[in-house]
Amino acid sequence: MPEPGAVREPPPSASRSRRLAWPGVIESYREWLDVDASTPIVSLGEGATPLIEAPRLSDRVGARVLLKVEGANPTGSFKDRGMTMAISKAVQRGAKAVVCASTGNTSASAAAYAARAGIACAVLIPEGYIALGKLAQALIYGARVLQIRDNFDRALSMVRQLAESYPVTVVNSVNPDRLEGQKSAAFEIVEALGDAPDACCIPVGNAGNITAYWNGFQQYHAAGLATRLPAMRGFQAAGAAPIVEGRPIESPDTIATAIRIGRPASWEGALNAARSSGGSVRAVTDKQILAAHRLLATEESVFCEPASAASVAGLLANGAEPGSTVVCVLTGNGLKDPDAAISQVTVPDAVDPSLPDVIGGLGW
Ligand SMILES: *Cc1c(COP(=O)(O)O)cnc(C)c1O
Repeated sequence: MPEPGAVREPPPSASRSRRLAWPGVIESYREWLDVDASTPIVSLGEGATPLIEAPRLSDRVGARVLLKVEGANPTGSFKDRGMTMAISKAVQRGAKAVVCASTGNTSASAAAYAARAGIACAVLIPEGYIALGKLAQALIYGARVLQIRDNFDRALSMVRQLAESYPVTVVNSVNPDRLEGQKSAAFEIVEALGDAPDACCIPVGNAGNITAYWNGFQQYHAAGLATRLPAMRGFQAAGAAPIVEGRPIESPDTIATAIRIGRPASWEGALNAARSSGGSVRAVTDKQILAAHRLLATEESVFCEPASAASVAGLLANGAEPGSTVVCVLTGNGLKDPDAAISQVTVPDAVDPSLPDVIGGLGW
């Protein structure tokens, strides 16, 4: 028991995240990243996202469930953790322009960090399959946006071809600097819990993030900062589940546009994470994803985007070890994809401003 009135030091994780000006992922985890004194740090204060208890989900699955709310990052998704590294390193190497293919969030993040660095950004997106909020972000941050009449995988292949002919840096997750930055989320989870969780549920699209988390958990474990390693449980959308099916999907299809990917660039990384951690990569249907998307909002008050809800959909469908601690990664903010939310609810008709009409309209 501390003396009454005694001043106690905050735990290290609290002092890190409650510092007045959080310096972002690179300054906070410098010793774990491939940066040096001459790396120009391009940061928007990414990282230090909330890890919140999910009491109702915990009741449902009989385990302690926590949510890593990555939608709280500067551009609303975890992509910022990788982008601060990718853009900083690109600038260090003298890049004047970056390019990416994107299902949306990479383009939003790349556009923002490139603007901050004062370099050009070009993004190729699959026509018609990008949530409106993400398109708005890429455009307003000033990126050169081009819609490709095909899917993400083709857009990424165009990006790779462009990079062979022009002096541009590719900032998709094929860029190793991206995964370096993204592993910081695993560090934060270990710091917040005082150890690694028993399991980590995560949506899988291009499979960079599950690969990055696994690296992060392993590094903290090897350094003695965690006593265990979590089972990495990845979830793909059933219409875009190449890793689960063991073959590329030519025409991936899912409401969860952020994971609508048929040829994941980090396929091997995801398989390795699942296998060596005693985890798995499984599929969840769009119906399960949308149910989890809504449940997260109504029961846990977290509005994430559909792709993010794949982690919770997977947990609900497959259950958890009784009494274990499970972290579900909620990769992006629900405001990015208002259409996905609106399509699940009934938008009310307008009524006249009279008390009887208002009472009637409320159904009281
Ligand atoms: C990029 C993204 C994913 C998928 O991450 P990968 O690293 O491609 O597997 C999941 N959810 C959201 C919101 C994303 O933006």
